[in-house]
Amino acid sequence: MRSRWNDLEAQHLIENAGPNPADVDLALRVYTSRLIGKEPDLVLHGGGNTSVKTQRMAPDGSEKDVIHVKGSGWDLATIEGQGLPAMWLDQLLTARTVPNMTDDEMVVFLRNEMLDKSGPNPSVEALLHAFLPAKFVDHTHSCAALAIADQPNAAELSREIFGDHLCVVPYVMPGFRLSQEADTIFRENSTAANGLFLVNHGLFAYAEDAKTSYERIIGYTDECETFLVRSGAALMPEEQFTRIENPGAHAVITALREALSTWGTFGTDGPVLDLRIGYANDRYLALANLEDVSSRGTATPDHVIRIKPRPMIGEANFGVTDWQTAVRDYADWYESYFARNAVHARESKTMLDPLPRVSLIRGLGIVGIGRNSKEAGIAADLAEQNARIILSAEALGRFTPINERDLFDLEYWSLEQAKLKAAA
Ligand SMILES: [Zn+2]
Repeated sequence: MRSRWNDLEAQHLIENAGPNPADVDLALRVYTSRLIGKEPDLVLHGGGNTSVKTQRMAPDGSEKDVIHVKGSGWDLATIEGQGLPAMWLDQLLTARTVPNMTDDEMVVFLRNEMLDKSGPNPSVEALLHAFLPAKFVDHTHSCAALAIADQPNAAELSREIFGDHLCVVPYVMPGFRLSQEADTIFRENSTAANGLFLVNHGLFAYAEDAKTSYERIIGYTDECETFLVRSGAALMPEEQFTRIENPGAHAVITALREALSTWGTFGTDGPVLDLRIGYANDRYLALANLEDVSSRGTATPDHVIRIKPRPMIGEANFGVTDWQTAVRDYADWYESYFARNAVHARESKTMLDPLPRVSLIRGLGIVGIGRNSKEAGIAADLAEQNARIILSAEALGRFTPINERDLFDLEYWSLEQAKLKAAA
């Protein structure tokens, strides 16, 4: 992975930002956020988040510390200044010593500190960004890092690759608890560290300037890629030609659509199916333990809200009846998954529809399923990325993402559900 930083582009943005230094900081923050967003192997479809700390004028006329953090529903690839709402930093730091905060309390707390209350809700990881003292903070779900972070010995591997340059943070659900946990670990180990390695989740990098922070996240990702190559577990390249029309695909795809449409879940235009064919997909679908690996969970937690905890598996010769059975079996599994996990939730949960968002068709390809082509495309993109990560993770050791209970907590987390609504 290479840096896409361009001095001329950065200079141009600085010149256009106007006289306020805070607007210059924000312009550079938008710039490197977009550079990250352009790289699918760093973040996909709303994943990851970034922030910058600067000063802005308070109502009393004094300059006060603020933090701009990515807003929910914004995608780093296309983010603009308004997608990074600002909050009063000193107030956010008081949350360090608050013993507990529910998700809803955290949203209210963050919104109260916003300079412009009409902005989007700040990212659920906003407090973690606030607690890290560096000016620029970058967070990604880098594919290469996930192939390593989803190993039973992820912490050891991180130490082997990064030494004490990254603090290892064990898996904690994103939000308030993760922010406090990461802050504690950072403060105990911060002297040599320039970033965090979040087990089962992703990477954080930080620095005093935009370029260094961005290039650290690229550098860490690159080190993970190199480590995978050295370990015989290289990430297969992302393919540019994954939408090849396959003449044999028509019948099986039509049958799948018919079996899904009887449920009425995907609206009047749906379901829309997005079939992806490619070398990496072929290798993944040919795995002898496909049923097992594909059912262990998603490569990074927040993928679960788009593609559910597992895909539905079928064969290239399936007709309508075969698919009806497969869909019914999937729905039965999903209902039992919901039942066995919902009992542990603090508040009562309402089950989402029990249908798959991804189907793996052995001998053919990976299919994204949605109400429209955008949803189907997102599901297919994430499923293909998961396939590449799982292939690497299995070559390295054993793909071991967060467990079912943690996945459920994420899928049924009110803040994640809000993210979907904001993006719709
Ligand atoms: Zn994250």
